[in-house]
Amino acid sequence: MELFPGQLSAQAFGKDIFSTLKDNDSRVYELITKEYERLQSSLQLIAAENQCSRAVLAALGSVIQNKTTEGFPGARYHGGCEIVDEVERLAAARAREAFGAKYANVQPHSGTGANQIILTAILGRGDKVLSLGLDQGGHLSHGAKVSFSGKFFDIENYYVDKETFLLDYDAIGRQAREVKPKLIICGASAYSRTIDFKKFREIADSVGAYLLADISHIAGLMMAGAHPSCVDYAHFTTTSTYKPGGPRGGLIVMGKDYESKIKVGGRDIALWEHIEKTTFPGMQGTPYLNNVAAKAVFFKETLSDEYRARQFKIIDNAKALAGGLAGLGYDVVTGGTDNHMVLVNVGNLREGLTGLAGQKCLEECGIIVNMNRLPYDKKSAAITSGVRLGTPIVTKNGMGPVEMGSISALIDVVLKEVKVKSDSEYEIDKSLRDEVRVKVKQLCGRFPMRY
Ligand SMILES: *Cc1c(COP(=O)(O)O)cnc(C)c1O
Repeated sequence: MELFPGQLSAQAFGKDIFSTLKDNDSRVYELITKEYERLQSSLQLIAAENQCSRAVLAALGSVIQNKTTEGFPGARYHGGCEIVDEVERLAAARAREAFGAKYANVQPHSGTGANQIILTAILGRGDKVLSLGLDQGGHLSHGAKVSFSGKFFDIENYYVDKETFLLDYDAIGRQAREVKPKLIICGASAYSRTIDFKKFREIADSVGAYLLADISHIAGLMMAGAHPSCVDYAHFTTTSTYKPGGPRGGLIVMGKDYESKIKVGGRDIALWEHIEKTTFPGMQGTPYLNNVAAKAVFFKETLSDEYRARQFKIIDNAKALAGGLAGLGYDVVTGGTDNHMVLVNVGNLREGLTGLAGQKCLEECGIIVNMNRLPYDKKSAAITSGVRLGTPIVTKNGMGPVEMGSISALIDVVLKEVKVKSDSEYEIDKSLRDEVRVKVKQLCGRFPMRY
């Protein structure tokens, strides 16, 4: 392109972006710098987090963020869309390839938003839904009372088995035949075992229900074949895109049922088309096209050998972490893990220890985890008996089973030495804390953030 005086090339524009922030807003620049340093010097073990590439960050911070339009590629409501149409088509095509899907919608602003779109597309006010309860490992957007999904629809929850904490498909099937839901939701935020999507579809078919699989946590594993796919079993598959390592945002994909018909206002319409109409104008306005561009970058990455191999290492590391903790006497929920997540009952480790106190004292020592309610937990959601750990970030940075052993030992030192004062208060010896912090920093120093 010919440049006029004062115009910058696209390359020069992009290159200056971070120093421009420093010059124009030193406060925000400083905070971003601090967050970067926090990430470099502490252990990121939150199962819902991942670490996207610099290429994804570049697409997020690009001028595509300025493009405003409504609708889908080829049918927009504003001019100037010829390039973003290509961007969105590319993102959707790569998402289809990554999931082996027939249809992909890259516009949802979040995982929660993707679920809102499916629920409002399929259900009328007061229609019945059967889903895993929040306190059993489900997600807020699956019908929790405090969420939109619990306010407008009639929610029945299924439960994990009281003894094994595993999904009991026979019990879920019996419950489905009693409840006769219009929609069944599977997929979880805190369930560390393989989910049998085929069985869920059989249950859905036995009562004529639609099946939504929300795979936010396991989407990366599924793309790599490290968890069985749900795409052709579920009518709709939803996920957040940051959990598998992409930009923040949501995604809807559909498999073999994408063209089956649904009656809307007395007219038969294809499921995928109904989902698009519910996305816009039903639930959302303008798409975040910079996020869509970043999703395109991310889905290309998911096709790489490095990404696919890493998903298997994430599971190996989670198994090593679960094994390490179990070996030190910890109650690992369900006895282990099949995915990236380890749930630990810290209440069973020591009298009085809670998830909240565990999270806080580990954080003080540079080990970042989150408290999590466990099935049939006696503690409230704000206290909990559990801690949830995840291995996507430490694996991305190159750690392996040996380091998982070191991390188990560091967690153990903290949780066995901390003095519990109440559900939320604790005291930890300062020299012990400093000692753990130094070890955490050294470990992180050996495995710097990879992009
Ligand atoms: C994280 C999560 C979501 C929410 O995704 P957001 O993008 O944060 O809204 C939805 N469903 C499940 C199962 C999740 O784990």
